[in-house]
Amino acid sequence: MTRRVPISFEFFPSKTDTGAEKLRVVHQQLQLLKPEFFSITYGAGGSTRERTLAAIREFNEKGTPVVPHLSCIGDDKARITELLNIYKALGINRVVALRGDLPSGQVGLGELPYAQDLIRFIREHSGDHFSIEVAAYPEMHPQAESFDQDIQRFAEKVRAGANSAITQFLFNPDAYFYFMDRLQKQGIDIPVAPGIMPITNASNLIRFADGTGAEIPRWIRKQLAAYGDDSSSIKAFGHEVMVNLCNRLIDGGAPSLHFYSMNQIEPNRQLVLDLGLA
Ligand code: FAD
Repeated sequence: MTRRVPISFEFFPSKTDTGAEKLRVVHQQLQLLKPEFFSITYGAGGSTRERTLAAIREFNEKGTPVVPHLSCIGDDKARITELLNIYKALGINRVVALRGDLPSGQVGLGELPYAQDLIRFIREHSGDHFSIEVAAYPEMHPQAESFDQDIQRFAEKVRAGANSAITQFLFNPDAYFYFMDRLQKQGIDIPVAPGIMPITNASNLIRFADGTGAEIPRWIRKQLAAYGDDSSSIKAFGHEVMVNLCNRLIDGGAPSLHFYSMNQIEPNRQLVLDLGLA
């Protein structure tokens, strides 16, 4: 029997009024599943700043806690201070602190080059007001020098004041378990929520995975390729794969699951219901 664990959902701010309207409905429906929080992404370099803020203000009034993402690679300290002050005034007490990836063509690495610098800055600015989530990469961050070095960098984020973490999406539970073992050997015991990316569309999934360094196992790639344009078979297969993955992660000790919702109700809702986590 699988344990019940808390769930959370990630949204990205929509670029259009129609998208914002749709997201309102998605939020309303996913809120019925009683998630612990909704997190809202932030484009590095402030590219989605106003839209992120608008979504945060709106959803913050709807009951379930809202957790803004902050990225430091393209923002200076003044801009981050302004955001932290707004979040404090809104009563928000949890953020996801990231380095971010700049849109191509922009230069970065300014006042706060890495997530650990942002975490230190948040602690200097706000003490313990915010609980700080950070990103984790059980399959290694694509720019890391080595797996060991990446683990050391993760440990530095924890020493700088991170309270918990969310992983890049993954399809291989053993990568998560191995990462957790390595953290334990370093004496790091913060909760790390595996990031779950439901499978609905083969080409989008491959594009996201290629962009983030997440591995799609060969047997999943091959199966998706064999289904071609048959989207109902892809969805049915994707559902089965995700239910098995989530159950294995929970049975192996994952403290919670974080869903990259892609601003969609389904398949997130069905997955959560079938896992008995609503
Ligand atoms: P860091 O932890 O700073 O690490 C980045 C790289 O630098 C790693 O390779 C690390 O090993 C290395 N490193 C760290 N410190 C040092 C140092 N002192 N010296 C040398 N090398 C170092 N991106 C967005 O733009 N907006 C978002 O909202 C967003 N949300 C995300 C949510 C989650 C859960 C995850 C997993 C990722 C998210 N991303 C987002 C993507 C993320 O910004 C990128 O993966 C980015 O490349 C790294 O961010 P980080 O916070 O992990 O960086």
